[in-house]
Amino acid sequence: MSDYSARLGLYIGGEWRGTEGREAQAVHDPATGAVLGRLPLATTADLDDALAAAERGFRTWRATPAAERAAVLDRAAALVRERAAELARIATLEQGKIAAEAKTEPGYAVTLLEWHAAEAQRIYGRVLERPTGTRSLVLQQPIGPVAAFCAWNFPIVNVVRKIAPALAAGCSVILKPSEETPGSAVEIFRILEEAGLPGDVAQCVFGVPDTVSRHLLASPVTRKLSFTGSVPVGKHLARLAADTMMKTTMELGGHGPVIVFDDCDLDRTIELLVGHKFRNAGQVCVAPTRFHVQAGIYDRFAKAFAERAQAIRTGSGLAADSQMGPLANPRRVSAMEQMIADAEAQGARLLAGGARTGDPAANFFQPTVVADVPMAAKVMSEEPFGPIALLHPFETEEEAIAEANRLPYGLGAYAFTENGRRQNRIADAIEAGMVAINGVRLSWADAPFGGWKDSGFGSEDGPEGVAAHLVTKAVHVS
Ligand code: NAD
Repeated sequence: MSDYSARLGLYIGGEWRGTEGREAQAVHDPATGAVLGRLPLATTADLDDALAAAERGFRTWRATPAAERAAVLDRAAALVRERAAELARIATLEQGKIAAEAKTEPGYAVTLLEWHAAEAQRIYGRVLERPTGTRSLVLQQPIGPVAAFCAWNFPIVNVVRKIAPALAAGCSVILKPSEETPGSAVEIFRILEEAGLPGDVAQCVFGVPDTVSRHLLASPVTRKLSFTGSVPVGKHLARLAADTMMKTTMELGGHGPVIVFDDCDLDRTIELLVGHKFRNAGQVCVAPTRFHVQAGIYDRFAKAFAERAQAIRTGSGLAADSQMGPLANPRRVSAMEQMIADAEAQGARLLAGGARTGDPAANFFQPTVVADVPMAAKVMSEEPFGPIALLHPFETEEEAIAEANRLPYGLGAYAFTENGRRQNRIADAIEAGMVAINGVRLSWADAPFGGWKDSGFGSEDGPEGVAAHLVTKAVHVS
């Protein structure tokens, strides 16, 4: 894919920078192991240039009327819509997801861009009139240049989710997308450029992640950190951000509990959950992971779920008949192997899958279902971030809720029951940032997306996601 490779670059101060004079890193196709291209890595001078540009860009962009900021986001949305097919192809090529799923990424990116364009024009302050002749103004102002780092699992959506709220709020950005899926991010930046975003406002850099983040977070220019990735890296970055009292949004990992009660619509529940579990080969922060199924329907659920999982065809995301693509990188395949070996050694019963499959140079792993997984198994506490479903029976509602809240994670949670009172009790009791009842969708442009406890803090999307890029100022005029 020489075309793919030729388009890769760093975008700093409105200019593209290539591999000349820089170290470069190979980008791999997870479905074949082949090298897709070479990605330039930012030097210290590049990062300093990005900081200087972001500082200039912030001055320009904060002074740009909200309607003009919105117009840029709307034009970007139109370009993403126009190039949806090519964007989706690139996402599949570098990340592995099947074409049907890849197509949803530009679609959702358009929704996010358009919603944030509208929200840019709904950033309000308030006026407090006092009988003493003083009038207080509460202003909401853009916080400043944002450093944003995001993961490879949704190469288009993760990028847009970082950029759209920052730009809506009037902030400039330095984004470091994943070095493993850079092509999608590069195309989004090319679109922003074409949409008329002034050159200094958004920078895209790649590099050695820890070097880049240390450099950007130590700079007094950076005023906000937004991160999507694993809990350990999130904690590390939060510590770095503490040194400059930087505002942070942390979208970290989870261990999605699913509570399936015996009064649910079982066929529909299984259908929804199998699709949701193996979407993106399980590499989703809100993926359902621990399936707590009420004892009376446990065996039926396990049998039907395993049969459906076994029937899923794995293959290249580009092939029309593939139903699940490869994992995005070899690290995930070894993680799956280790978690399954440990669960089996602790007495879990493998009902489906459990092993790598296909070309050994690629990263395919079978859709896997494990039953009766003991609590002591590592996978019952550590996020698999892959195609593994863990089944575990429960007797009472109290027991299921306690189990759902057992871990230090609190991102996405699911419950299936036709009992309305129980739905309310579950909605109240679950310790998580997002709960779906009788459904699986947790992500909407106008609703906050984020976690509790170790899963992070702050939210993306919704008015909350824009507010995370604002600072409040009270002005008292007498
Ligand atoms: P990882 O934490 O090493 O990397 C995740 C992302 O963070 C990558 O894009 C990487 O470039 C970036 N990153 C890593 N170290 C960084 C640093 N010091 N500074 C700035 N950015 C940094 O994990 P991984 O092996 O790539 O992925 C597996 C784990 O990541 C999973 O267990 C899962 O918890 C987590 N993850 C979460 C999400 C999410 O949506 N919350 C997405 C992808 C991965």
